Amino acid sequence: MSASLVTLLYLVASICFIQALKGLSHPTTSIRGNVFGMVGMTIAVLTTAALIVKLAGGGVAGLGYVLVGLVVGGGAGAVMAQRVEMTKMPELVAFMHSMIGLAAVFIAVAVVAEPQAFAIAPAGEPIPVGNRIELFLGAAIGAITFSGSVIAFGKLSGKYKFRLFQGAPVRFAGQHWLNLVLGLATIGLGIAFAATQRFEFFIVLIALAFVLGVLLIIPIGGADMPVVVSMLNSYSGWAAAGIGFSLNNSMLIIAGSLVGSSGAILSYIMCKAMNRSFFNVILGGFGGEGTTAAAGGQAQRSVKSGSADDAAFILGNAETVIIVPGYGLAVARAQHAVKELAAKLTEKGVTVKYAIHPVAGRMPGHMNVLLAEAEVPYDQVFEMEDINAEFGQADVAIILGANDVVNPAAHVKGSPIYGMPILEAYKAKTVIVNKRSMASGYAGLDNELFYMDKTMMVFGDAKKVVEDMVKSVD
Ligand code: NDP
Repeated sequence: MSASLVTLLYLVASICFIQALKGLSHPTTSIRGNVFGMVGMTIAVLTTAALIVKLAGGGVAGLGYVLVGLVVGGGAGAVMAQRVEMTKMPELVAFMHSMIGLAAVFIAVAVVAEPQAFAIAPAGEPIPVGNRIELFLGAAIGAITFSGSVIAFGKLSGKYKFRLFQGAPVRFAGQHWLNLVLGLATIGLGIAFAATQRFEFFIVLIALAFVLGVLLIIPIGGADMPVVVSMLNSYSGWAAAGIGFSLNNSMLIIAGSLVGSSGAILSYIMCKAMNRSFFNVILGGFGGEGTTAAAGGQAQRSVKSGSADDAAFILGNAETVIIVPGYGLAVARAQHAVKELAAKLTEKGVTVKYAIHPVAGRMPGHMNVLLAEAEVPYDQVFEMEDINAEFGQADVAIILGANDVVNPAAHVKGSPIYGMPILEAYKAKTVIVNKRSMASGYAGLDNELFYMDKTMMVFGDAKKVVEDMVKSVD
C-alpha cells in the first residue's frame, strides 16, 4: 500500500469521524452519526492493519497477529456493549478509557525499547528529541488515564469492597501537596528522558504517573464520576494524539485530537449545566458523601400524596401535560410505560410534551437515549431552553424520578445548587411527582416543590406507578 493511498484513506476516515460527531449531536441524526463512526473506524483499522503488515515486512504472520488482536479485542467489546445496562454506561466508558490509556503506555514503551521497529530512528541511532518529548507526554497522560479510569470504574460500579473503589472520597492531610510533588517529579523525569533517552527515567516516570492517576481521582465523590469520566475521556484522546505524533501516524493524531477536544467540551457542558466549576468537581463538592443527606431531617414535613388512579384522573382531564423524566425513570426502566401513557393521553386529545434537562440522569443525553429507545416521537421532546417558557401555561407537569433538575432551590442564594438552570415545573398549574420516598436526589438536597399546595406526590417505583396510570386513563 503506497503512502499516498494510506494518507487518502486516513483522510476519508477522519471526515467520517467528524460527520459522526456532527450526527451524534441530535437524536434524529444519531443513527447516521453512528454509521459514519463505524465506517470511519473500519477504514482506519484496516488501513492501519495493512500498514503494520507492511512495516513488519509483509507476510501472513504479521496479518495473523493483527487479526487475533482485532477478534479478541473487538469480540470482548461487542459482548460488553451488548450486556451493559443504560444506567451502567459511564462504567463501561471508564473501562474503555482505561484500555486506551494502557494501550498508549504499551506503545510508548515498545517505541522507546525498539525505535527502529517503528521506523522512528534507524538501528543504533537515538530517538529524535521531539519524539522523546511526545513519547513522554503520551505515556504519562496514558498512565494517568489508565489508573484514574480504573478508580472511576470502581467508584461508579459501587459493588466492590476495596476502599478506593467506594463512592465516598478518600482524603488525607497533604494530599494536594503530594500530588504536586508527584506531578513535578514526573515532569522532571520526562525532561531528563528527553535529554538523555535513558530507559530507567522513562519507566519511573510512567510508574509515578500511574500513582498520580489514582491519587487524583480518589478524593472525588462517586456521584461526580460522570464528569470525571468525561475528563478522562479527554485525557485518553490527548494520550493517543501524543503517541500519534511519535509514530508519525496522522490518523491517531486526528482521532486523538477529536476525542480530546470533544471530551473537554463535554466536561465543560456538564459542569455548566450543573453550575459547578471544573475545580469544584475535581476538588470534590456536593454529592460526594452520599445522596440522602436531606432525607432524615426533612421527613417530618407533610406532603399531599395520591394514588396512580388520582394522577391518571388529573392527567386525563388536562389539556396540556409536560412530562419531566429523571434518573429514577432510567433506574425503573419505565420509558416504555411512559410512552404508552403519553399515547393514551394523546388519543384523548391531551397535548403531551417531554422536557429534557441537559444533565437529567447520570450522563449527558441519558434521557434522550431512553426516550428514543421507547420510540417516543422526537417532535414531542424538548430541550430545557425551548420548553421552560411553556410550564406556566401547562395544566400538569408530571415529574417521573427526577429531583435536582426541578428543584427551585437553584433560585435560592446560598444553596449548593444556586444558579443551576432547572426545568421550571413548579410554574405548572398542577404538579405530580413520582418517586419512591422523600429521599433526596444526587445533590443531597430537600426539594420545596414536593411541599407546594399544587403538588401531589405519587409514591412507588416509576414503572409500576406509570403502568397503573396507563390502566386508569380511560
Ligand atoms: P436525581 O438524582 O436528582 O433524582 C432522582 C430521583 O429519582 C431520586 O430523588 C429518587 O428518589 C428517584 N428514584 C430513584 N429510583 C426510582 C424509581 N425506581 N422509581 C421512581 N423514582 C426513583 O436525578 P435528576 O435526573 O433529577 O438529576 C440528575 C442529577 O445528577 C443532577 O444533580 C445532575 O447534576 C447529576 N449528574 C448528572 C450527570 C449527567 O451527565 N446527566 C452527570 C453527573 C451528575 P427516591 O429514592 O425517593 O425514589
